[in-house]
Amino acid sequence: MNQTTILTIATRNKHKAQEIAAILPPHFVVKTLADYPALPEVEETGSTFAANARLKACGIAALLPGLVLADDSGLCVEALSGAPGVMSARYAGEHGNDAANNARLLQELSKLPAPYAASFRCAMCLALAGEVKAEFEGRVNGTITLSPTGEHGFGYDPLFVPDGYNCTMAELPAEEKNRISHRADALRQLMHYFAL
Ligand code: IMP
Repeated sequence: MNQTTILTIATRNKHKAQEIAAILPPHFVVKTLADYPALPEVEETGSTFAANARLKACGIAALLPGLVLADDSGLCVEALSGAPGVMSARYAGEHGNDAANNARLLQELSKLPAPYAASFRCAMCLALAGEVKAEFEGRVNGTITLSPTGEHGFGYDPLFVPDGYNCTMAELPAEEKNRISHRADALRQLMHYFAL
């Protein structure tokens, strides 16, 4: 498949959209909800990443022509029984406040013995005309450090040390994060779906 494919990413999170656009091959023309400011918010009421990805992809694909891809992702910490999980974006209350979310995670973990095994998870759903076409799940394992380090990436990246590395995700250049991340793992499956 070499002709141009227009893919709308059902997100207003510019970090996610940038990472997805950087990982996909160039014949995908990536749009985001920033291109459609009048579209309503889709409520993320699911109890799993997959359910929320489905809600976002189908909700937006019912309103727009063409393929829509949704990414629902987050951090799962074993010692916290999988939290923050689907609450990752609003762990400290306000949606998308990375500094507050990281501070709450550090506060919760400081009461518990290290090491803190964790994983980043990414559920993706591809939808067309309001219906699911395909679903993918990506994951990267690691541990949480109580010393935030690094300026790259977003969200919990300064606290997450991927397995096999001596630095946090936020210390890795974008190209390296985009090679090993949960999002890259899910997108590899998407590319396989498109027979790429
Ligand atoms: P969503 O927009 O409901 O999928 O929530 C995503 C949230 O999970 C973000 O706000 C971050 O807190 C966290 N998250 C997802 N992917 C990443 C990542 O690649 N690095 C760091 N944090 C992430």
